[in-house]
Amino acid sequence: MKKLLILFSLIIFILSCATVPYSQRKSVILFSSEQEMSLGEQAFAEVLKTSRISEDKEKVELIKRVGERIAKVADQPKYKWEFILIDDNNTVNAFCLPGGKVAFYTGILPLCQDEDGIAVVMAHEIAHAIARHGAERMSQGMIAELGQNIVALAVEKKTPEARKAILTAYGLGVTVGVLLPYSRQHEYEADYIGLILMAKAGYDPNKAVEFWQRMLKLQEGKTTIPEFLSTHPNDKNRIENIKKHLPEALKYYNP
Ligand SMILES: [Zn+2]
Repeated sequence: MKKLLILFSLIIFILSCATVPYSQRKSVILFSSEQEMSLGEQAFAEVLKTSRISEDKEKVELIKRVGERIAKVADQPKYKWEFILIDDNNTVNAFCLPGGKVAFYTGILPLCQDEDGIAVVMAHEIAHAIARHGAERMSQGMIAELGQNIVALAVEKKTPEARKAILTAYGLGVTVGVLLPYSRQHEYEADYIGLILMAKAGYDPNKAVEFWQRMLKLQEGKTTIPEFLSTHPNDKNRIENIKKHLPEALKYYNP
């Protein structure tokens, strides 16, 4: 019986192995990308219901333009991309849900400064989504807490708990009030993939260093930090990691 259980677990493990694009890291994800995308769409619908969309035509267009350029090189034919700007100056955040639903809050724009800064955040968030970091984190949490049968059932039935889990897993506390930081490994990986995506889309990856330096400055001496920073722990090592990958990213940069 015990042997059978081990064999069964092994099969589940192999079946649920995914490969992260660019980094080629193997990750264990307990549900299909279709299930994940469907949850992402539902979670996005919930965000839309509870948010005010910006009417600033110029800024909305800018978010769309940057998003579409990066989406083009992200190579996700099944994604139904959408880019929105939420009118909320107090929320310093941005996210990309599985399936390609991207939102920026107006509160993060001053930190982005310009189109290049927006491209840094956009590429980084899209990188989290295509690397399926939220799904991986959800899987890890669920293995620990519930056991995979219950997970599969919750995701299949698209229960409110499953939707909440995906919002939380993507660092989005809007509906759940809880913000989980991405792991350091996920952050470094999203920085790396993000660099390549922005370079491929024709944005100078050097701008990522400047952006995270601005972030570091903002963080210094603050007791309360904005959402984006609480889910994106930032330190000097992070910037060093980005610098390390710059030469590779620059090979894709063809302005
Ligand atoms: Zn991140």
